[in-house]
Amino acid sequence: MSADVPLAKAPSSPRGRLVVISGPSGVGKTAVIDLLLADPRFGRAVTATTRAPREGESDGVDYVFLSKEDFRRRLAEGYFLEHADVYGRLYGTPWSHAEAILASGRHCLLNIDVQGAATLRAARVEALFVFLVPPSLAELERRLRERGLDAADVVAGRLAAVDREMAEAGRFDVRLVNRDLGVTARKLALSVGVALP
Ligand code: 5GP
Repeated sequence: MSADVPLAKAPSSPRGRLVVISGPSGVGKTAVIDLLLADPRFGRAVTATTRAPREGESDGVDYVFLSKEDFRRRLAEGYFLEHADVYGRLYGTPWSHAEAILASGRHCLLNIDVQGAATLRAARVEALFVFLVPPSLAELERRLRERGLDAADVVAGRLAAVDREMAEAGRFDVRLVNRDLGVTARKLALSVGVALP
């Protein structure tokens, strides 16, 4: 984990705001972000990963899918604002994507794990840090198993990380229990100053 490039300072009008959305795997980060993206005032920085694409995922849309070698080369070149090893795979935020969104005046949503959020906080990146909380651990487990995206051992690994991830919640600016996607998206938007229609 590191902040690899000089960090842009406080976004002020007309720049958008950087919004870091974190929380345990399966809490609904991607679904909430997809709802927010229906509003043109939001954009999402596409992050990079070394994990294999899931069915239906496209390169450059869901993630930039990289081999470990390519990821490490870009890392050495200072391509990532932050990066982290999440459940044994590398993930990183290309700063150029986030910067382009902010410069266009849109709020930039970043879907990153709690380690990535901690890196950005430590680097004093100006952002709103939002933590999504599952309604209950049982519900989180049900969602992770029922979405059927990951093999059983991967789901087990993600569940094993939940306690450590939940322990970080108090360090975020905003905590939202994600019971209902629409309500969560509305509250999240409001915390950035956007009233969704
Ligand atoms: P998934 O493999 O389910 O798409 O994502 C696994 C985890 O990686 C999620 O918690 C997601 O927030 C996190 N993640 C995705 N992109 C990044 C990134 O660029 N940096 C960091 N630190 N975490 C990321």
